Amino acid sequence: MSRVFNFSAGPAALPLEVLEQARDEMLDYQCTGMSVMEMSHRSKAFVEIAETAHADLKALLAVPDDYAILFLQGGATLQFSMVPLNLLGDKTSADYLHTGSWSAKAIKEAGRFCDVNVVASGEGSNFGHVPAAAEWRLNPDAAYLHVCSNETIGGVQINEFPDSDCPLVADMSSDILSRPIDVSRFALIYAGAQKNIGPAGLAVVIVRKDLLGNARKGTPGMLDYTVHADADSMSNTPPTYSWYLAGLVFKWLKAQGGLTAMADVNARKAAKLYATVDQSNFYSSPVAIADRSQMNVPFTLPDADLDGEFLSGAEAVGLTNLKGHRSVGGMRASIYNAVPEAAVDALVDYMQSFEKTHG
Ligand code: PMP
Repeated sequence: MSRVFNFSAGPAALPLEVLEQARDEMLDYQCTGMSVMEMSHRSKAFVEIAETAHADLKALLAVPDDYAILFLQGGATLQFSMVPLNLLGDKTSADYLHTGSWSAKAIKEAGRFCDVNVVASGEGSNFGHVPAAAEWRLNPDAAYLHVCSNETIGGVQINEFPDSDCPLVADMSSDILSRPIDVSRFALIYAGAQKNIGPAGLAVVIVRKDLLGNARKGTPGMLDYTVHADADSMSNTPPTYSWYLAGLVFKWLKAQGGLTAMADVNARKAAKLYATVDQSNFYSSPVAIADRSQMNVPFTLPDADLDGEFLSGAEAVGLTNLKGHRSVGGMRASIYNAVPEAAVDALVDYMQSFEKTHG
């Protein structure tokens, strides 16, 4: 077996221990004589898997009791529609912070359902910074305020969430579980699984229960949070295997010491990469220092003609998926929870030696 250091933005690296356990349990899950993939979602074995994953996620994020945790399908993208469908109530507008490609998609989708007030945009810096909260032009009549806590493509991350009377909604697809957060400051948090939670096919939604029951008239049942909350996310057949693997990831996170411990490692990993970029005259970061993501680190070489050689040399030493998103070019190292510090160390060594030979 030969595994690479995988810097993919998502679907992304999973902890080796999790994959090994899944392998060991693949054919016969705990003496049931079948794989988790083959069992009824109503079976005792699966209901226990589902409930344990739910409880572990609740404990990891210290989710208060007045929140529902939902395991849904449709990716984070479906949440771009489910959020307005469920949270607008009788209001006709919502506030959105525009920090890059993913918030842009959320804004576009919300525009189908309401007037979108863009409270501030990072466009002026080509999305290399997060507009300061003091600059946000909030609409007092907005049903909610939506932010993307970490822009996976641009590599900007929100470090300070605003105190707001307006229900705060966050797309945390690419930084959930990377650091402790105070869930009680949010009305709703959502995340696609395929970065820090588990395999694709699952999205997690954490929603304050008093916001349930207000879906807009005509909302399909599958898009109504209340339907899912009432059925413990089993209103139809859930993505059982992804849910099981997410549960293994939650157990792994607990064994690492929880989110405070993860935040320490993540800060160290990111600091090493940014230091390598900042200390060189060769690499550059397009992102303002204060807003740099600890999960997705974009950087450029002095000449885009060197990109191909950088990437093929990286592949040759087992460092994969470093190519930047097609919309921005350059490089991007995604260093989610499951990317070990050794991967970052190997990348730093490679970057330094590439700079020596090409700088
Ligand atoms: N939001 C963010 C921040 C993302 O990074 C992504 C996926 N890369 C999405 C939303 C969309 O997720 P999905 O593909 O699961 O719909």
